[in-house]
Amino acid sequence: MVEKLGTGFLKIINDIKKISGLEIFENQDLKKFSTMRLESKGNLVVVKTIKALSDLLKLLNKENQKFHILGWGANQLLAKEFSVPVIKLEFDFDKSYLSQVRDEYILPASVSIPVLSSHATKFGLKGWEVFTGVPASLGGAIFMNAGTNLGEIGDLVKLVKIMTNSGDIIERVIQKGDFSYRKNNFLKENEIIVEATLVHHGVDESIKNKIKDYLALRNKTQPLKEFTCGCIFKNYYDESKTKLGMKTCRAGQAIDIIGLKGFQINSLRVSPKHANFMENLGDSNIEDVSKMINKVKKVLNWQFGVDFETEVKIPKD
Ligand SMILES: Cc1cc2nc3c(=O)[nH]c(=O)nc-3n(C[C@H](O)[C@H](O)[C@H](O)COP(=O)(O)OP(=O)(O)OC[C@H]3O[C@@H](n4cnc5c(N)ncnc54)[C@H](O)[C@@H]3O)c2cc1C
Repeated sequence: MVEKLGTGFLKIINDIKKISGLEIFENQDLKKFSTMRLESKGNLVVVKTIKALSDLLKLLNKENQKFHILGWGANQLLAKEFSVPVIKLEFDFDKSYLSQVRDEYILPASVSIPVLSSHATKFGLKGWEVFTGVPASLGGAIFMNAGTNLGEIGDLVKLVKIMTNSGDIIERVIQKGDFSYRKNNFLKENEIIVEATLVHHGVDESIKNKIKDYLALRNKTQPLKEFTCGCIFKNYYDESKTKLGMKTCRAGQAIDIIGLKGFQINSLRVSPKHANFMENLGDSNIEDVSKMINKVKKVLNWQFGVDFETEVKIPKD
């Protein structure tokens, strides 16, 4: 049976309220917490410190209460009504830490990727151009191994501090194979990235222009003024080249070929600018997006005989 909006959570809310370093918003409209602005409601817990997160997870674990973790909400669909609490990290970060170039950067998971990108632009940090224009929290970017045509963030991660669902911290020194295309291969279910150490490849003046040029290109080719969640589908890779007769097929191009650019379900439209984006033009919800994903997948399969995997995360709750 599906649990009503947070009844399990409400049973322990008084104990949760005793934990310092948390802000609790009951029955909150969550629309503004995702870049796609889908209709969504839930109990939101904003976490300010690692200690508060640990206390919270210990309590939730004791009560067998599941939870959902939200970064910037730039690559996940939000449920219409979350029955489990939604956890958002907002750890303190003194931006003066980024006033100079460092050999390594120890950063909270909640720091924003655009802030790191500005730092890279200012100082010409080689390697950090890979996440140009990616709206994300650092934790979300590492979870997704976010990247662009210029590379992936996984190549810059040296160490990750992870909180287990029982509230303990473990450290993961990143090894070969820990990341692949738009995913990490080391986090277990309900583990939360709380901190990461990033490296770079030195300082190079030309990086500043590389970042500026890449931003301009994205502006031209992607619907950045609309409410979207980035790419819906992963590009298709087939090492054996047996199915599509080629190694790579970009999902956006494939959707364009099947003629679904501009196709609309209620207020949700396949972007006329970039077919792998879906634009929420009004009051779309997860059901509209799921219908659209199924429709596009089906037609892609008829046309190309392969299944395109979704990149966007769809909550189980
Ligand atoms: C306009 C636009 C352009 C985009 N362009 C790109 C692009 O070029 N390249 C690209 O890779 N992506 C792109 N994206 C998608 C998105 O920016 C990335 O996937 C990003 O990494 C998502 O980070 P987030 O913080 O928003 O995570 P969310 O979307 O909030 O979460 C994504 C997943 O990560 C999990 N998660 C989040 N934080 C943590 C944490 N601290 N610990 C453990 N799990 C966590 C969530 O539970 C969820 O499963 C784009 C999105 C938009 C809207």
